[in-house]
Amino acid sequence: MWPNCRTTIADAEVIYEELETELVYVKFKVRETKEDLIVATTRPELICACQAVLVHPQDERYKRFVGRHAIIPIYGREVPILANTSVDPKFGSGVVMICSYGDSEDVRLFRELKLQEIIAVDEQGKMTKNAGAYSGLTTKDARIQIVKDLEKNGLLVKKESIIHRTPVCEKCRTPIEIIPMNEFYLKQLPFKDSIRKCGEAMTFYPEMHRQLLLNWIDSITIDWPISRRRYYATEIPVWYCKSCGEAHIPKLGKYYKPWKEKAPFEKCSKCGGKEFIGETRTFDTWFDSSVSPLFISKYLEDEKFFKKAYPVSIRPQGKDIVRTWLYYTLLRCYLAVGVFPFKAAWISGYCVDEKGEKMSKSKGNVIDPEPIIEKYGADAFRFWSAQEASLGFDFRASEERIANASKFLTKLWNIARFISMFPVVKKAKLMPADEWILGELAETSKAVQEGYKSFNFFIPATRMREFLWNLFANHYIEMVKARAYGKGFSKQEQKAAWFTLHTCLRVSLKLLAPIIPFITDYIWRSLYSKGSIHKEKFEKIDWKRKEKLTEQILEFNSKVWGIKKEKGVPLTAEIQITIPKELKKLEKDLKAMHNIKD
Ligand SMILES: [Zn+2]
Ligand SMILES: [Zn+2]
Repeated sequence: MWPNCRTTIADAEVIYEELETELVYVKFKVRETKEDLIVATTRPELICACQAVLVHPQDERYKRFVGRHAIIPIYGREVPILANTSVDPKFGSGVVMICSYGDSEDVRLFRELKLQEIIAVDEQGKMTKNAGAYSGLTTKDARIQIVKDLEKNGLLVKKESIIHRTPVCEKCRTPIEIIPMNEFYLKQLPFKDSIRKCGEAMTFYPEMHRQLLLNWIDSITIDWPISRRRYYATEIPVWYCKSCGEAHIPKLGKYYKPWKEKAPFEKCSKCGGKEFIGETRTFDTWFDSSVSPLFISKYLEDEKFFKKAYPVSIRPQGKDIVRTWLYYTLLRCYLAVGVFPFKAAWISGYCVDEKGEKMSKSKGNVIDPEPIIEKYGADAFRFWSAQEASLGFDFRASEERIANASKFLTKLWNIARFISMFPVVKKAKLMPADEWILGELAETSKAVQEGYKSFNFFIPATRMREFLWNLFANHYIEMVKARAYGKGFSKQEQKAAWFTLHTCLRVSLKLLAPIIPFITDYIWRSLYSKGSIHKEKFEKIDWKRKEKLTEQILEFNSKVWGIKKEKGVPLTAEIQITIPKELKKLEKDLKAMHNIKD
């Protein structure tokens, strides 16, 4: 397949766009009956390459023509009228022409019907001499011209504007021409079943994206064309004998540029010729990137290391490159070493704009991360991407959302600054409020670690934000402030507050370190250790949530704050209120927190 960027590309590099195009209805003549047969086509410039006219076998309108012949307008050539179930009777007139290389369906039918090919378009995207008067024109100009000529000769019945699912090049977004070219191919059809089995056995994070791979494997119908006519890519290391054409491949271990380097051979192994011509083509970029697991595990470089490191643990990547990077990696590594390269794949969604639309240069909605990272810091950016969407789903980017993520980092910073005023204590006799928050911390820690285990960073991000901000800062810290300062509490009670504050912060820092690596490490080194937090393990937590008091605590605190707000008095103002029975055990802390008088 041949787009505007003038190289062969593989099916995996083709995407489909809904493009507006003109469907033209053209008069062909049935030779035997002299009747008109109206063919509908979006590619009238390819009439010269038409080798058959097809109708659906059950289409009553055309049954009587099957087996007869159609005369092509302008060129006057005869082609058979055939019945084929691939024709959609509802599309256009229900009669289609099959041209060599019109689209991949044409190619398939050409092979199936064993038709003789006629090449109408060359590598420059221009019409060949087979197009007669249109030879040398671009396909677009030829289309305009032939429609004019058909109209002039009364051969054009009508024109319709339709939306056509058009195959375009993923890179340059231009429609694709199918042109016969000699290319290098990597065999993939014989290995489809093995790779599919691997795809079924692998773990997918999230499971829903497994289908992307399986669907792609099922859709593969030809081998993988791997040679490209691009300049910036890996050179194909092949030289050809100038006299007999025999291909020669150099020994492993060195990088070659055959188009400008002297061949590393004395003479042709076949005819003894001494002159060679270097290959000028390059490899498909996925041909290189698909061996990344072999590269990182030092394949052919360090056998001991390779044995230990291969297969690697996981492939992290975006969902848009499942059919390329993920699939080709499975294929290439399997072919090279006979063992699949990883047991799990981590597939993220797209980063879309704030309206949920895919970012693209042409739409002008791409957000450049550099100035954002400069402004809010890498931690804010990373934390935002973790908390924005559950694994595998598309996530929206806007400066507002990233700024919002940075507010949590400020909160974390302020929490740490407050706690840093108190000494770190090893042990304490806990009070009920301490037991409550440590129980909540234990629950949070469990969920967060499970989130990390399933590589779903959304869980740690949202759970930690909820815990640290909404419970720990808003309620617990407010509850124990007086106790931590020692106002109206015993030394032992004060120590319990210090212990709990530091424990919650210390455990939280570790739980947040993978998704907020810089700030957590800074606080960690300032308060708890000389070494990096990233060398620490998650803490084993001994506390359990004995009873769920959270709802009652939140409800009571909100009630008190609400009353004071209504009265227009400061939060420190005295209040008379009954503490609910189930919160009696927290009485001392609650009284200090709200300044409750009996
Ligand atoms: Zn292109
Ligand atoms: Zn030779």
